[in-house]
Amino acid sequence: MKIIMLGAPGAGKGTQAKRIAEKYTVPHISTGDIFRANIKNGTELGNKAKSYMDQGLLVPDELVVDLVVDRVKQDDCVNGYVFDGFPRTIPQAEALDTALKAINEKIDFAVNVEVPDSNIVDRMSGRRACLNCGATYHLEHIPTKVEGICDVCGSELVLRDDDKPETVLKRLKVYHEQTQPLIDFYKNQGVLVEVDGTKDMAEVFKAIVSVLEQ
Ligand code: ADP
Ligand code: ADP
Ligand code: ZN
Repeated sequence: MKIIMLGAPGAGKGTQAKRIAEKYTVPHISTGDIFRANIKNGTELGNKAKSYMDQGLLVPDELVVDLVVDRVKQDDCVNGYVFDGFPRTIPQAEALDTALKAINEKIDFAVNVEVPDSNIVDRMSGRRACLNCGATYHLEHIPTKVEGICDVCGSELVLRDDDKPETVLKRLKVYHEQTQPLIDFYKNQGVLVEVDGTKDMAEVFKAIVSVLEQ
């Protein structure tokens, strides 16, 4: 099962991608997590990506595509994967199509988690992220057992630098200009699934599973 998660920043792509990955035992591939891990480890890729991420801009396509194409060649991807935060531009989607075609594969579903812009700033300002294991929570909607501590690994949670309101507005603008066109791109391929992301986490998941298992 090869799945792409689409949706605005903060729509709940990561939250749902993790649940899908767990249920169907496929890897969750988040390009944002990969960049953040590289930044944390001070790699060259991390240094290059950071300046764009801090400004709420997309990292250039050429820094993203090769990384993902290499990732899907790894053994754990034989039964599929869930992409979260990739592709984010039409050129990235085309590059992915080309790479998959070359090995006789294709995307099965592109799941668009729909959340209006008016809900996004609240989602992002309440988001707390674990930079150690990638788990995400929300202060009100998805609280941790102990405040500020990751339920999964016990690390301290952070408010991501790019989740500050000014940067969120910039990211939303970038989303509408560069990523939203992917909705039509995948609709035209007949693989688009749309779900209402304003519902609670469990309901959104149920809606996704019901389509994947049709
Ligand atoms: P969110 O989950 O809130 O949408 P991500 O963790 O997916 O955020 O991405 C954080 C930042 O990482 C983005 O704002 C962008 O700068 C960069 N990034 C992640 N994935 C991509 C991608 N596929 N193409 C370009 N930039 C990306
Ligand atoms: P994305 O990966 O699309 O940027 P996340 O999955 O990180 O989004 O979710 C953004 C924030 O909203 C997080 O704080 C997350 O805990 C919270 N969240 C996710 N899904 C829901 C939901 N259905 N209802 C309320 N809050 C949610
Ligand atoms: Zn953790």
